[in-house]
Amino acid sequence: MTVKKLAKNDFDSFIDAIIQSKKVYGPQVKGEKYDFAQLNAAQDLCMDYDVSLLPPTKYFLPVRETLMTFEVGGGYTSQQDEEPFVLVGVHPYDLVAINQMDILFSQDNYDSHYMTRRKHATIVACDVVTPSANVFASSMGTAVVKEGADVLVTDIGDGYLLEAMTDKGAILLASATRATEADASDMQKRQAVRDVNQKSLNKHELKCDSAYLPKLLSQAYDHSVWEEMAETCFACGSCNVVCPTCYCFDVKDDVNWDMASGKRERCVDGCLLDGFTKVAGDHEFRKVQAHRFRHRLFRKAKYVPAKIGGQIACVGCGRCVSACLPNIANPVTIYNKLLDDLGMS
Ligand code: SF4
Ligand code: SF4
Repeated sequence: MTVKKLAKNDFDSFIDAIIQSKKVYGPQVKGEKYDFAQLNAAQDLCMDYDVSLLPPTKYFLPVRETLMTFEVGGGYTSQQDEEPFVLVGVHPYDLVAINQMDILFSQDNYDSHYMTRRKHATIVACDVVTPSANVFASSMGTAVVKEGADVLVTDIGDGYLLEAMTDKGAILLASATRATEADASDMQKRQAVRDVNQKSLNKHELKCDSAYLPKLLSQAYDHSVWEEMAETCFACGSCNVVCPTCYCFDVKDDVNWDMASGKRERCVDGCLLDGFTKVAGDHEFRKVQAHRFRHRLFRKAKYVPAKIGGQIACVGCGRCVSACLPNIANPVTIYNKLLDDLGMS
């Protein structure tokens, strides 16, 4: 599809026009950091943000949601969120995470709550302008993307290049009436931005190709690193909450005071939390913190890849590295240590 160019002021007008007709969410200043929130005006949108506090996956799998309401002895009503919205400013690594979630929530047990939101979303991704302190997307092959969004935006300095990647994206771009066709020089500038990002979003460098990680972990289940690292783990679950590829949740029924009606809710859960694996009969099958710690790393680079065609379920956003107070959550530190200790680097 053709690539369009918009002056930065015209890009603001383009976003403002979308805001008039649909809900739009994008990265905005939050204290000294950034987070995704609903946009009231394009001037609040920060296309040069480094990383958001929470990943934009929260718009598809909310922290808490009602799945259905029910009447005891009667029927139930499934809650489906069908409101169209536009998600602007999604970085490539977060886009990869969303695309992974799309597979996980549509294969085997089709999750209509997630997929309904996903179908009603238009995603406008953007190449990274400001690398965050702990990003390592270059190591994970997620620093740039060629597909997965509806529109891809790249800041080339004197304007934005916008590429429609789907029919939905082309419809959205048709409303950018002041856009011109990008010329060869614009395309070279875009390629230069992407070439730099391909290598430079790498504050922590993995010593192997990420595709090798499942094989590495198959040798590492009983390694002492899990005990050593978990010694200072608070079991706070922060590394789970901020992760764009963590999608575990808990489901609970909440019966109203009338004892005749209620709702079924789900809320996000985290495998590092004490009690995550507690089931009926007070049985807990991952009681030891080191085992929970190991599970998170195995899930990222072995268990989930086995479900999604080998893709590694750590996209290198670096949020867990920033969120972990005892500084033990960095997957690269752990994988590099295993590579060294097992002589596989
Ligand atoms: S494990 Fe950490 S770096 Fe990897 S995707 Fe999750 S939060 Fe980002
Ligand atoms: S690894 Fe860090 S962020 Fe994760 S639960 Fe332990 S202390 Fe919290």
